[in-house]
Amino acid sequence: MTKAQTWHGIPREEIPWYPTVNAETCIGCGLCFTTCGRNVFDIQNHKSIVEHALDCMVGCSTCANVCPVDAITFPSRDLVWKLERERKIFKVVRQETREKKDRLEALKARAIAEEHISQSTTRTKMEVAGEFGEKQFLVKLEELIRDRPYDFVNLRLEVPTVKGALEKTPSFMSFEVTSTEQEDIQTFLSEVRALIAGNGLTLVSEHKLG
Ligand code: SF4
Ligand code: SF4
Repeated sequence: MTKAQTWHGIPREEIPWYPTVNAETCIGCGLCFTTCGRNVFDIQNHKSIVEHALDCMVGCSTCANVCPVDAITFPSRDLVWKLERERKIFKVVRQETREKKDRLEALKARAIAEEHISQSTTRTKMEVAGEFGEKQFLVKLEELIRDRPYDFVNLRLEVPTVKGALEKTPSFMSFEVTSTEQEDIQTFLSEVRALIAGNGLTLVSEHKLG
């Protein structure tokens, strides 16, 4: 036993629950050694030995169940039932149950929050093509974010030529939509898409960046 342990409030050293290996029967297969998650056993000279008896989990008998030659024995289960009754462990068990449920609830809530964050979008790059000049598209973009927690950054407008722009040659614009408060922007993206479509422009691509 590596450190002071208790079993529902009872000092572990007061509970004689651990395996005993019959060395004559044991064939040294190693199954108990590899199965036990608490490293109770060691294998020496082709035999299993119980090295850390008090690390055995009270009430567990998995190693005895899997031993192919029935070389492992445990005390009677009455020992555990008697302890439960006489040492009145259930007050402690009820408290441990509440604590465990709280821990699991907290873990679940954290997993849900992390899932939500991984699914939310806070930054998206959009590429748009079309005729921008007469449509006042930039002005409309500015109106869309006025007094709201969003912004358009890294905006680039590629106009083939000045004459081309005047002649309404299609141009290309890219920008990133962001939340200034690092919140999900998916609803706002729908508004941006509607603005693009409503102005006869084409949304060429949309990439989630964050
Ligand atoms: S499982 Fe049984 S036979 Fe195999 S090493 Fe353990 S005690 Fe020995
Ligand atoms: S009963 Fe369980 S915990 Fe105890 S030694 Fe066997 S496998 Fe390990």
